[in-house]
Amino acid sequence: MHFFEILTMYCLTVFSLLIIILLFSSPVFIYYSLAEPIKAAIITLDDGMLSQYTYAKPILDKYNFKTTFYIICNSVDKENRMNWNNIQTLEEEGHEIGSHSMNHKKLSKLSDEEMTYEIIESKRCLENKGFNVTSFSFPYNDGDDNKNILKNIADNYYIARTASEPLMFFQSRSDNGFVEGNDKYENQCHYSTKNNKNEVQSSFKRYTITGLSHEAYKKSGEYSDDDEMYEQFIEIVESQTKYNTENSIGAIPILIYHMVDYSQDDYSINPNLFEKEMKYLFENGYKIFQMKDIVYNNEEELHIKGY
Ligand SMILES: [Zn+2]
Repeated sequence: MHFFEILTMYCLTVFSLLIIILLFSSPVFIYYSLAEPIKAAIITLDDGMLSQYTYAKPILDKYNFKTTFYIICNSVDKENRMNWNNIQTLEEEGHEIGSHSMNHKKLSKLSDEEMTYEIIESKRCLENKGFNVTSFSFPYNDGDDNKNILKNIADNYYIARTASEPLMFFQSRSDNGFVEGNDKYENQCHYSTKNNKNEVQSSFKRYTITGLSHEAYKKSGEYSDDDEMYEQFIEIVESQTKYNTENSIGAIPILIYHMVDYSQDDYSINPNLFEKEMKYLFENGYKIFQMKDIVYNNEEELHIKGY
């Protein structure tokens, strides 16, 4: 072979190799090969506690997280609770206001008339103050297995939130082909028609959207300190990744907070820990949604708008 032919072949080979190296290291290729599942969370704060305004709001503002506040209408302006101006400010700044009943009573313990009042009047009360209310959260998660209560909520709200599950699943794993596991955070899709409660809940899924108040685990002695609570938090929020893709959300943690203060109460989280948790979500690229981002349509059922 002529010297120049060898040189040309050599150059072509080197050139091709360079092209391959460039292609594989290009941002586009790296993006597609490393595309990770979306990480998302919904933050909700119940009961209209003043400490949410004093301690939680500045932290939420720092990370520009917009959340959903569930207000008990008759508790507004009371001791340690927010006033109407506080709540107005929250809405003006992009937070969502939802109803958490009139008096925070266990709905299943009330007469039909009282129960209806708690559900309907609380919406009217907030609307009279100028708030646009589309969702309800159950006081004490009570009544979320009662057809009569669910029917009443369904007649008056778009969606409702209860608690006690770390992740809200938008599709059952069987629909998605998920593999059954023993993970304690995966049990929502075990809802079947095995017993009446589950049957009722599955037919009213949009009114029994589940969140988790992880600070309440303190009561059952699951945490010895805030460090353990923080570890548990990370485990909960990260557990969604196997159900999500880079453009779809199959499961989302809906976090529920009550008091954000130094009281050490069972339903209180220390502001320093709250800050740590929010920082974790921020630094790890979590998309923060609100309850109003959960939408329903007949074909796709419940999902996060756009995902
Ligand atoms: Zn409550």
